[in-house]
Amino acid sequence: MNDNINKKSSDELSHEELLSLDKDELVDRCMGLQRAYTSLYNAVTLYKRQLAAVRDHTLKSGQIADLSRKVNISDINIIADVTVRDLSNFFGANFGALFLYDNDTKFLSLNRAYPEISEHPVLHLENDSDVMIVDILRTSREPVVLESPSSYEKLCGKDFRSLPIDANMLEGGMVCPLVVSIQDNDKMLIGLAVFGDKPGGFSRSDAEIATMMSEMIATAVSTSRLIEQMSLLAETDGLTGLYNHRHFQQELSRSIALANRYKHPLSLAMIDIDHFKKFNDQYGHQAGDQVLREVTRLMRFSVRDTVDLVARYGGEEFAIIMPETDLKGARIAMERLRQYVESRNLNIGGKVVQITISIGVAEYEYERDKGAFIDTADMALYRAKRNGRNRLEIHAPNQFG
Ligand code: GH3
Ligand code: MG
Ligand code: MG
Repeated sequence: MNDNINKKSSDELSHEELLSLDKDELVDRCMGLQRAYTSLYNAVTLYKRQLAAVRDHTLKSGQIADLSRKVNISDINIIADVTVRDLSNFFGANFGALFLYDNDTKFLSLNRAYPEISEHPVLHLENDSDVMIVDILRTSREPVVLESPSSYEKLCGKDFRSLPIDANMLEGGMVCPLVVSIQDNDKMLIGLAVFGDKPGGFSRSDAEIATMMSEMIATAVSTSRLIEQMSLLAETDGLTGLYNHRHFQQELSRSIALANRYKHPLSLAMIDIDHFKKFNDQYGHQAGDQVLREVTRLMRFSVRDTVDLVARYGGEEFAIIMPETDLKGARIAMERLRQYVESRNLNIGGKVVQITISIGVAEYEYERDKGAFIDTADMALYRAKRNGRNRLEIHAPNQFG
């Protein structure tokens, strides 16, 4: 009977059978139960931990997907915001900064920081190698985790010149070079993202995520730069760098809408080089091109830098949009331009040559359409030609031609 009981496991025993067990057997069975309970407890704890890790991973993957979607936009301002704010929040860092690198000048300059800081350092990749982040950029293409600036100094065995923002960036920080792969395993440097002031510091898995995100940010920044260059190319004229006819038309529409809405003055000048065909015939097209560039320079010099818009209307004709300017103001500015051009001595193949321009100026009359506005300036220009060239004529309202 006892043998029979001993073969049974504890949970198979009836109440009577349990009571019939001797003390040693009971203690033995209790210890067995204790062991089973402990291993079960350990298994449950492990399972719970794994479940939390999976949850955390899923959450992080969701956040990473979210961030990648945001970065995958060509607006540099959004890319910068996501990098310094969203990404540092994601890492649990209290500081984020984005530096952009200019391949032509070799300058690395702070584009955005979160929280915003007043000092925006501009560093030279070659001349400022005694600054820690420049040194990192020169030696690594992978994220570098820093416990503190001094730990990196110890690692390199050298002292670095510190920047005021090093305290935000490098204590419990991670420095991520932003590079894009180009042909033949070559990498092009785009900039640098720095995250700092993370309690407890950055982990290896943070660095792995940073590697992935850095590549995405670098690609987004270089795409946005390309788009910017392309749209500038589409808007500007190759010879003079001035806005082209298409962009002029768009901007004039916008200026007219604003003038109508706020009832502000708006003037337009049409400019044409005098006897330019003859000039080309006499001195050649290259000299003609030189004249177009010189007239461009003088036009830019004569108008308000960021307010007025100078465009190449076509051939040797130019147009200048002057917002917030009435006929009187426009006339003064354009007369000054006419005099600049007239008094300019051009050196064409060792010969001193002068050129002149004719100008027609008109002020916008509210609610008239764009075509009519251009016509009024054009008619004034035509009159300037007819009246002897090298002169300026205005279109006075209610006056024809
Ligand atoms: P006007 O005083 O009546 O304006 O005489 P014009 O000879 O300037 O006028 P016209 O319109 O007859 O000739 C314009 C000339 O401008 C024709 C062309 O040889 C020259 N031209 C137009 N575009 C360019 C350019 O991009 N480069 C050069 N070199 N010449 C150009
Ligand atoms: Mg012409
Ligand atoms: Mg001409």
